[in-house]
Amino acid sequence: MTGARTYLDYNATTPLRPEVQEAMTAAMVDIVGNPSSVHQEGRTARKALEEAREKVAALAGASPRDVIFTSGATEANNWVMQAGWDAIVFSGIEHDAVQAPAATAPAETIIVGADHAGVADVGAMAETVLCNPAVLTALRNGGRVLLSLQAANNETGVCQPVMDVAQFCRAHDVSFHTDAVQCAGRQNLNFALWGADSMALSAHKIGGPSGVGALIVRGGHVLKPLLEGGGQEGRRRSGTENLLGIIGFGAAAELALSDVARAEGMRAMRDRMEQALQAAWPDAQIIGQASPRLPNTTAVAFPGQAAETLVIKFDLAGIAVSAGSACSSGKVKTSHVLDTMNLPPTLANSTIRISLGWNTTNEDIDTFIRTCTTVLRPTQQRAVA
Ligand code: PLP
Repeated sequence: MTGARTYLDYNATTPLRPEVQEAMTAAMVDIVGNPSSVHQEGRTARKALEEAREKVAALAGASPRDVIFTSGATEANNWVMQAGWDAIVFSGIEHDAVQAPAATAPAETIIVGADHAGVADVGAMAETVLCNPAVLTALRNGGRVLLSLQAANNETGVCQPVMDVAQFCRAHDVSFHTDAVQCAGRQNLNFALWGADSMALSAHKIGGPSGVGALIVRGGHVLKPLLEGGGQEGRRRSGTENLLGIIGFGAAAELALSDVARAEGMRAMRDRMEQALQAAWPDAQIIGQASPRLPNTTAVAFPGQAAETLVIKFDLAGIAVSAGSACSSGKVKTSHVLDTMNLPPTLANSTIRISLGWNTTNEDIDTFIRTCTTVLRPTQQRAVA
């Protein structure tokens, strides 16, 4: 990253890519129509909307008709959770945008755990589908059961076995939703191959603007609209489309697709950073290191050092990272993800997240490693080579 600061918090949000900014600026000047209008201006807007839909579909490995634009992944996840299920099964490592609407849905909710390595307990998920009385009753009576499993975790980067779980769900008449926000641009998404019924995506995690995302819904899989009105998005999501945002999302999706091919370069930078940290701070623990992980994410615990304090110290030193123990509202609380993994408080409270992205350079990593020597307590430090 250029400039005085080093941004290493791409899982929270990403800087807007210049190509995205360019596409949005051009559209701001050139497009005046409403995509629902029949005149030329409307048709121009419609064309831009559909082109963006094709780009997002290509990123998702889905058909363009499966893509419904939303205000972000929070809306997409809320929509699915609130879609009239009799029972919802999900793991405690899901993002709040899944857990909170599931908790208030008029459905039986069953939360399963995760192991120390950050992988959701898929055995418990299967057992729930096969043995839980509420689930069995719903399935026996032709009711609707949903299982939700994120594709990768936002705090640890640990990838989840979505394909296996989707297959299991299909075999047992259970709908399967995946929040794939953190995977986009970091590993291949293949909605069709995975066999999911729905998937949530967000533009601002891939170098696009905030406030726009998508729900990908497999053809014919009908979800009751969350928003009623003018019947936009094929009568599935009313409200005049956020065209500029969607155009930015499309441009970002196109770039994110090519990022996946370069993911190994990102992984090499991330791994170099982890090796340097573990060499200099032998008691540092990389959370989920033994699991398949996204190439851009490191969650690392420095036992005995408060994560919140570290984040502030890094910030003062010009580096943006985040704490696994901070929630989105900025209040300090223990991370529900690390809690679900049953990490001892000494680790959970000392875990920070470093996440790389499209603009991260080897110099950023060098700066981070160098800064660690001043920010982290020297008592636990060996000389950095
Ligand atoms: N799901 C995951 C895994 C996320 O990391 C986030 C953002 O932090 C969201 C959902 C919410 O996405 P949005 O900001 O687009 O509402």
